[in-house]
Amino acid sequence: MIKILVIEDEESVRENLLDLLEAEDFKTIAAANGRTGVDLAFAEAPDLILCDMMMPEIDGYGVLTALRQDPLTATIPFIFLTAKSAKSDFRQGMDMGADDYLTKPFTRAELLGAIMNRLERQATLKKYLSSSPKIIPKTVSPKIQLLEMNLQRVVKQKQFQEFELHYQPIVDIASGQIIAAESLLRWQSPELGLVTPTEFIPIAESTGLIVAIDQWVLENVCQQIKIWHDVGIAYLTMTVNLSLMEFHQPDLLPKINELLGRNNLEPQYLEIELTESVIMQDINGAIATMNQLQSLGLKIAIDDFGTGYSSLIYLKNLPINTLKIDRYFIHNIAADHQKSAITKALIEMAHNLNMRVIAEGVETDEELHLLRDYHCDAMQGFLFSRPLPAAEFENFLWSNRHLYI
Ligand code: C2E
Ligand code: MG
Ligand code: MG
Repeated sequence: MIKILVIEDEESVRENLLDLLEAEDFKTIAAANGRTGVDLAFAEAPDLILCDMMMPEIDGYGVLTALRQDPLTATIPFIFLTAKSAKSDFRQGMDMGADDYLTKPFTRAELLGAIMNRLERQATLKKYLSSSPKIIPKTVSPKIQLLEMNLQRVVKQKQFQEFELHYQPIVDIASGQIIAAESLLRWQSPELGLVTPTEFIPIAESTGLIVAIDQWVLENVCQQIKIWHDVGIAYLTMTVNLSLMEFHQPDLLPKINELLGRNNLEPQYLEIELTESVIMQDINGAIATMNQLQSLGLKIAIDDFGTGYSSLIYLKNLPINTLKIDRYFIHNIAADHQKSAITKALIEMAHNLNMRVIAEGVETDEELHLLRDYHCDAMQGFLFSRPLPAAEFENFLWSNRHLYI
């Protein structure tokens, strides 16, 4: 059974969290202050820690610092819980080695999503570090096991039948025109309903199914670009998210080359999105593969920028065409001076490095206006459109929808 340690001084929040976790079959341990939290972490070696940032005496930073110094506790996934007012502190927490953060009040889905994500990542990590991955005991909840079983079935027996790609427009802020689209995977399971990528991608990664899935996505996106080019939508670039495992497949390059050839596609219409963590796992290997992809003519975007490894220093050495600023920075940017200052600096820096900048998760006019003032090149977000199924996306294109500022 998975053991989660909750360190939270506010009793009502703590009790609420414990109830939620127990309902999901997690074993819980609780601490009402940082000192007890650290003691319990050493004594119980939990599988994951949820820790409030603001606590009297030893706060969340203190707890994290103590745990990261000891090899016994250094690698336990650690998720910060932050109050809204303390949101700007999250960067410090991430820099100190926290794995994730949740802003209170968070929903049950956000909490479970973050936990599952971290547990699965930890499982993947253990698998990589172990010389004999098969003997690692499976410590996953029944819910994750059910998801995994169904995912195996979709990939291995049902030929991806329950998968569908949705496309979210990326819009040039100056002209208001759609210039690209991000392909985003959807899984409509008859047994489980709609399963979001944040739920199933980590499971696909830890089971290795992600390689087949990402290949299916690449193949389908290439076919789709071809279909749209053939009906006269010839300007569209399509972006594809690649996982760590797929990115390191030895035959990635020949496979992409073959797909381009088979669909008679010009490579500049395909852009690969990589997150900071994918790149940072093996920076030299990543640079080599990125260079090869670029020499094939593909473009490369760095995704969710700002929340990962803060790899500003590396950016200048990386062959990147596009920087996508994570939606954390965009959300409420007009009211948050720190976020707006960071975003402004990121955009300037990216432009100095000859990169195009896309703001992710733009939801309001205020956010858009500020981004325009900062000369951000493009936007993606619910303000303009949600990700759409192919047919709806095509109608959207034909309707010649523009972004008006
Ligand atoms: P991502 O690549 O950062 O994709 C953007 C996510 O933000 C999408 O979530 C999208 O629906 C969401 N989003 C877009 N605009 C807004 C907005 O205005 N507000 C908010 N709140 N959200 C917005 P989605 O589709 O759930 O995908 C989540 C993640 O799953 C993606 O994050 C990506 O990392 C991964 N993923 C999705 N499709 C694939 C795939 O085909 N292969 C791989 N390896 N990963 C994928
Ligand atoms: Mg993406
Ligand atoms: Mg993103």
